[in-house]
Amino acid sequence: MRAGKSAAGNGGFYFEPDSPVVECRGLSRVYEAAEPVVAVDACDLVIHRGDFVSIMGPSGSGKSTLLNCLGLVDRPSSGSYRLGAWETTRLSGRQRASIRGMLLGFVFQAYHLLAGRDVAENIAMGLLYRRVPRRERLRRAAETAAQVGLGHRLSAPVEKLSGGERQRVAIGRAIVGDPVLVLADEPTGNLDTENSELILDLLQQLNDRGHTIVVVTHDPTVARRARRHMSLIDGRLTERT
Ligand code: ADP
Repeated sequence: MRAGKSAAGNGGFYFEPDSPVVECRGLSRVYEAAEPVVAVDACDLVIHRGDFVSIMGPSGSGKSTLLNCLGLVDRPSSGSYRLGAWETTRLSGRQRASIRGMLLGFVFQAYHLLAGRDVAENIAMGLLYRRVPRRERLRRAAETAAQVGLGHRLSAPVEKLSGGERQRVAIGRAIVGDPVLVLADEPTGNLDTENSELILDLLQQLNDRGHTIVVVTHDPTVARRARRHMSLIDGRLTERT
């Protein structure tokens, strides 16, 4: 494992350009209880730079659990998970948090924006763990706001935005640090059809520009926008061709 400056600008985290972004082998997550629940069952998953992967499954199939493992929020019970150059299952909580801040971007169904702050400040939040000075954070946030179609609303308080615009801010926050992987959890779950389409267009544009995206959803119209399609049923992951 090497640490150094990566070409992708993930300050301090060396990243082999040709190696997979994600490599999971036999990844399982079992919730211990009187009757243990195998929420994710021996998943193998390899994601390359530039992939756009959908993981689709009904409620209770293990989507959130798998996403939490990929997002380093939860630890698998067994198996391996390599993210870039890092075998994450061996790392401490602190190291995992640091890698999460440097290498991953998150988009949630409920946006999770900071109330009372404007568009620029919310997008700049995505750089908080990257030791970028505030001025530079705001400069990069302005650039990213333009990429997500909000260049004209930089100083709008997020409370004044529509749902579709709020999700654009959240996507801006996820990509402003140029993460190696964007993880999206039902990104259109709170939006009407028209706004959903616009957000899916945006995710496709970001993927066309090289962003690697995993979207977890129960909605086939969302999954269809991806380039690779996976199904998760009772914790078992399979790729549909
Ligand atoms: P999905 O996101 O597809 O709805 P989840 O990952 O939330 O699925 O859940 C997968 C399975 O794990 C379900 O059977 C659920 O009841 C169970 N589960 C989720 N979280 C916990 C937990 N903290 N403790 C015990 N069982 C859980």
